[in-house]
Amino acid sequence: MAKVSINLATGSIQKEDIIVGIDLGTTNSLVAFINPDKDPLVINDAGKGVLVPSVVHFGPTGEVLVGNEAKEFLITDPQNTVFSVKRLLGRSYHDIENYKDFFSYKVIDDDTESLVKIKVGDKFYTPIELSALILKELKARAEHALKTPVNRAVITVPAYFNDSQRQATRDAGKLAGLDVLRIVNEPTAASLAYGIGLNPDETKTIAVYDLGGGTFDVSILQIQNGIFEVLATNGDTFLGGDDFDRIIVDYWIEKNQLNKADVIANNELAQQLRLKAEEAKKSFSHQSLFNEKIGDIWCTLDRADFEQLILPKVQQTITCCQNALKDAKLTTADIDEVIMVGGSTRTALVKKMVSEFFARPVHDDVNPDEVVALGAAIQADILAGNRKDILLLDVTPLSLGIETMGGLMDVIIPRNSKVPTKGGRQYTTSIDGQVNMKIAVYQGERDLIKENRKLAEFNLKGIPSMPAGFPKVDINFLLNADGILTIQAIELRSGVKQEVEVKPTYGITDEQVEQMLMDSITHAKDDISQRMIIEARTEGEQTIYTVENFLRKHGSHITAEETEKTNEHLVVLKEAIASGDKDQILKRIDEINEFTRPFAERLMDEAIATAMRGKSIE
Ligand code: AMP
Repeated sequence: MAKVSINLATGSIQKEDIIVGIDLGTTNSLVAFINPDKDPLVINDAGKGVLVPSVVHFGPTGEVLVGNEAKEFLITDPQNTVFSVKRLLGRSYHDIENYKDFFSYKVIDDDTESLVKIKVGDKFYTPIELSALILKELKARAEHALKTPVNRAVITVPAYFNDSQRQATRDAGKLAGLDVLRIVNEPTAASLAYGIGLNPDETKTIAVYDLGGGTFDVSILQIQNGIFEVLATNGDTFLGGDDFDRIIVDYWIEKNQLNKADVIANNELAQQLRLKAEEAKKSFSHQSLFNEKIGDIWCTLDRADFEQLILPKVQQTITCCQNALKDAKLTTADIDEVIMVGGSTRTALVKKMVSEFFARPVHDDVNPDEVVALGAAIQADILAGNRKDILLLDVTPLSLGIETMGGLMDVIIPRNSKVPTKGGRQYTTSIDGQVNMKIAVYQGERDLIKENRKLAEFNLKGIPSMPAGFPKVDINFLLNADGILTIQAIELRSGVKQEVEVKPTYGITDEQVEQMLMDSITHAKDDISQRMIIEARTEGEQTIYTVENFLRKHGSHITAEETEKTNEHLVVLKEAIASGDKDQILKRIDEINEFTRPFAERLMDEAIATAMRGKSIE
């Protein structure tokens, strides 16, 4: 079916416009496009530079800054400056609790499996909203530089991103007013930038080594018939060029016989040293000795010593490459191409060790900061149908998903997925002893199922009675090449299973599909804010359910005053839910969690103590 795009200014459908490629990075983001000569180019709007730091700052009166201007506030106003939001996209607090100290802003600990939120001042933001602010800035820069509306994009994500992280990235795009035609893996985009994978007849195995400022990952890909398959990924989400800078700073502290604690306490000096260390590191690309001073501190380092210092870190990345190969059941001899991505691959030692490990020269001609965005632009061009030589596989025109709590649409197969395709997700019950689960299948782009098209509904019956949250219900969608969708629901603990089949394209015209797409973009903002209210409300109701349950079961373990205070918290939470104010609801949930956490911990300690007593041999 024809690709459509919506001109947001006029609301009309356009047949032809530019599709940009976006690398939404942890540290920096970039946007690229294909110029009329068919070359991919990164956008440098009004000389602001091609890299947009992925940093958002909220000013005292609500003004929002994104990019370089926001980055300056990382030091002077860290609580109101959000960085590394990509690490939080599609994540629950449980996923990130081990590295929560990494963030200088407030990540809400609600002790649940729901997605994290960030508190800045009185407001709560989701990583989706924050990423949308970055994407909006990229969109604005592209529109300014290209002097044309930009409404469609391809956005890249790491190969290891799960479903929820990919969906969050799509949502961020939508919120930024972009029709996200496809989410592409970063290593796939990097391969495309080198022209690898463009010939449908070639079969190749590729290693993509990506060492950025804060993260490292390596992916092993196989390309066959123009399809990229990720065979394995490995890496370390806290390893990158920033570590090299820290190692240099530590070395200078030692050489100058400084006290490390004093340096850390002196914020300004610590920053100066860090920047000087980064300067030294980069200088080794063209010189072998760095020799400068900060006040009376000597900042001296030669390349050989630098390489000695960072050797263990680089070795760590090589171990990851070994592990990735092992997981892919391959050896270095099976790898046809090695591609370097990320600013830190400019380090000579990194190139040397990677090349030695794979026993072949590495691809490093394309700027390693830009290679992913450039590849995304090529993918965008392919999707626009501008490369006739490349096979465009059949895609599903509308997203397919199911209804979740509060009447929300949870997408299982995103639109524009190549068919045949499959997708799945695990769900659970929300009420103790729930034995049936309604599964309603919808098609469409809106966040609320009532705005989408219902395809089927059935009941998964016979789930054994268990406490809420215990059953594991896998819902799998399989869309075959003929467009038949099979929906399977299975409760894993009991094996209870049910299956239905539908044909999503039946009874829907191309015009209706176009209308549905247009509605989704024009209503994106309202839809997402409504969804956030529903999610907050659902979370609030879940919290009330849990706390009331706790009081019923363990009320005798807490004091009368504690019970009374808990009940007061419950009342204000219920009022907030009734008011429908998202920030109020989240604030009250946060408060009740803070208040009741010590009881739960105390109870846990008592339970452990009792269990220990039970085990004693006296
Ligand atoms: P990225 O996250 O891909 O933008 O990479 C940023 C990292 O690349 C930072 O740690 C930079 O210090 C590092 N970097 C940039 N240029 C160089 C260079 N010439 N040599 C070594 N590292 C560099």
